[in-house]
Amino acid sequence: RAKKLGRNRVEFFAPNLKTELSRNRRIAEHVKLGLERDEFVPFYQIQVDARTGRIAGIEALARWKHPQRGILLPEAFLKVTATLGLLAELDAAILRRVLRDREAWESRGIDVPRIAVNTSAARLSDPALMEQIKGLNIQPGTVSFELLETVFLDDIEEDVMMNISALRQMGIDIEVDDFGSGHASIIGLLKLKPQRLKIDQRLVMPITTSREQRSLIRSIVDIARALGIDVIAEGVETLAHVRLLRRLGCDTLQGNAIAFPVPGLELFDQLVAEQQGQPVRP
Ligand code: C2E
Ligand code: MG
Ligand code: MG
Ligand code: MG
Repeated sequence: RAKKLGRNRVEFFAPNLKTELSRNRRIAEHVKLGLERDEFVPFYQIQVDARTGRIAGIEALARWKHPQRGILLPEAFLKVTATLGLLAELDAAILRRVLRDREAWESRGIDVPRIAVNTSAARLSDPALMEQIKGLNIQPGTVSFELLETVFLDDIEEDVMMNISALRQMGIDIEVDDFGSGHASIIGLLKLKPQRLKIDQRLVMPITTSREQRSLIRSIVDIARALGIDVIAEGVETLAHVRLLRRLGCDTLQGNAIAFPVPGLELFDQLVAEQQGQPVRP
């Protein structure tokens, strides 16, 4: 196997590399290789319309199919990927896979809803972004970009602003991720006019036990309404959540109570079941 891993095999398997630094370097080396070998893949989590229960969208979530350690979650690799300056590359790799999957499902006669990809700030301010995206030939309405709300500050940088309006012109929706956990300003929302905001799961989860938290959700929904923005609730874990969030006016629901993130093959089955009118959901 050392041979397969190629030029860095000495660093990988030297037995005495125990310090934090060398461990990080080892993971880092793996991330680079993993990207080269296409080991990063999207898992998919459906989002449903709060009123009808029909699939309204899908979020693509990065997973690392690590050759030795199995399927790894973002918490295991995002930080080091960012430190290496490879986050934009990871985002690009996931988007390419999403487009490929989408095409494969559509060619089998499936109606695929909009798929959201997570987008790092690094990618959003990359001057090469628009050229890359144009080359991908994305159909309007098929893909949206989730941005952390730190992007939606009052004084948005010019390059980011330009990239966002260019994305919009190509029919790519903008969504604010983890809303309520960062510093989005209402001025920022007004300037960037995202299509949707996703309420952070830490605000959603406590609504079953706290009246205060419920009013908070209602206020966020009101603000979003005033700005013409749709609201997605994340971290919907129980049926009680589903009922409350519907009552509080959220448009779309996402969370383990509805469906877990699954590999593309399983998502395909979910889409088929949906299309045949037999979704398997609570
Ligand atoms: P996020 O975009 O806010 O994604 C939601 C996270 O909550 C996902 O974790 C998802 O699996 C998890 N989740 C979904 N439903 C529930 C629920 O009902 N309860 C709980 N407790 N959790 C739920 P995941 O997949 O581990 O992703 C973590 C974060 O990593 C994401 O948060 C996103 O910020 C980042 N991420 C994921 N994929 C990518 C990517 O391709 N590029 C970039 N830049 N970041 C990514
Ligand atoms: Mg997200
Ligand atoms: Mg989120
Ligand atoms: Mg998050």
